[in-house]
Amino acid sequence: MTRLPAWLWVALGASALALALGLGRKRIPRAFTLAELSKSGTAQRLGLDNTPPPGAAEAMRALVDNVLAPLQELLGSRDIQITSGYRSEAVNRAVGGVSGSHHVSGESFDIKVPGMGAKELAAFITSSGLPFDQVIWYAPARGGHVHLSYTQRRNNRRATLYAPASGGYRTV
Ligand SMILES: [Zn+2]
Repeated sequence: MTRLPAWLWVALGASALALALGLGRKRIPRAFTLAELSKSGTAQRLGLDNTPPPGAAEAMRALVDNVLAPLQELLGSRDIQITSGYRSEAVNRAVGGVSGSHHVSGESFDIKVPGMGAKELAAFITSSGLPFDQVIWYAPARGGHVHLSYTQRRNNRRATLYAPASGGYRTV
C-alpha cells in the first residue's frame, strides 16, 4: 500500500471532523407526513378511523407546501409540533370541535413551537409574509396553541385572531 502524504491525512481528518459536526451541510428539512398530520390520540382511544380522504389529503399537502414547510425552514432548529391536524367528522365531534371546522377539510392544523408562546409564534407567522387564511393564537387556558389554516378554494385572508381565556375570538 502506498503511503499517503501527511497533508492528505490532515485534509481527511478535517473533512471527517466537519462532517461529524455537520459543518457545510444543509440541515435536513423536517418532513411532515400525512400519518403525523392525521395522528389523533382521541381517534386511537375511541377506535375511530382518522384517515383523510383524497380531498382532505390534498388540502393538507397544500397547507404543508405553502405554509408549514416554509415556516419550519424559517424557524430553523425549532421544530414545529402538531397538536391537532386532520380530524374526521367523528373525531371532530369527539374533541368538541366546531361543526364545519377546517380541521375536517384538511385546511388547518394546530401547532406549537417549544420555547415560543402562542402570541410570539402568531406574530412570527404574520410577519413572515407567508400566505395563510387564519392564524388564531389561543390563551394558555385554551390550549396555548396556534391554529393555522390555508385554503385553495378562495383567496387566503391573512386574518389574525386571538382566543382569550374568557372565550370567543377577537381580531388583532
Ligand atoms: Zn384548530
